[in-house]
Amino acid sequence: MSLPEDEVKAPVLFLFAHHDDEIFIATLIRRLTDEHGQVACAWLTRGGLGGREREAESHRAVETLGVGRNSLFFFRLPDGKALDYLDEIVNRLTRLLVKLRIVSVFVPAFEGGHPDHDTAQLAVALSIRLLPGGISLYEFPLYNRYHTRLFRVGEFIPDAASTTRWTSMKLRDRLLKRKLSHFFASQRLILVPLLGLKGGPMMLHLKGEPFRRVPVGRDYRRRPHAGRLAYEYFTRYRFGQFAEKVRR
Ligand SMILES: [Zn+2]
Repeated sequence: MSLPEDEVKAPVLFLFAHHDDEIFIATLIRRLTDEHGQVACAWLTRGGLGGREREAESHRAVETLGVGRNSLFFFRLPDGKALDYLDEIVNRLTRLLVKLRIVSVFVPAFEGGHPDHDTAQLAVALSIRLLPGGISLYEFPLYNRYHTRLFRVGEFIPDAASTTRWTSMKLRDRLLKRKLSHFFASQRLILVPLLGLKGGPMMLHLKGEPFRRVPVGRDYRRRPHAGRLAYEYFTRYRFGQFAEKVRR
């Protein structure tokens, strides 16, 4: 039986909106770097006050996962405002995909958790459409407000068009997730309560670490789920602004 990670072709790019998003897909990063090493990581935003500090945290985190220092790329855009830089992101990303000859990209799920996460996915989807083809796009869940009053962490919003795969996790993978969460000292106030919803990073992804293919032609003008999105509670962004950007 083939492992879920076996279907992922290299070279692979993991595109994150923020430093610390990588915790949610750390096991797969580690597995892929162990297997073929052709893994790069890029971050769209530089984080708030502790920008440099957060870059250093990400350096430590992904180097622990086996990703080389010269395979890390920082776009350094303002945190929380990625949507305002959509065109610039698409341009830079397209160049990066070509330069690294990327054939698989992983991005945060389109789930209304954070506008920067959804923007990251939209940007890659647009870049891929500009390129000749042959690039597979995958997503991994962070947090959303689908069918819950609080947050769902690390679980996809169901999508009949895509099958969820789980990267199996051993004890050492769970310990690694916990270790990574400690690297992000500047984010502790946010991460700890979030991961705490699942009983902490050790308990996150009990069934394994989920990922799935993004259906080709996904319509980004449609809300990821009915009802108010997570970011509509804690940011000034509304889905209408996102959909408007997509239309243009
Ligand atoms: Zn994030």
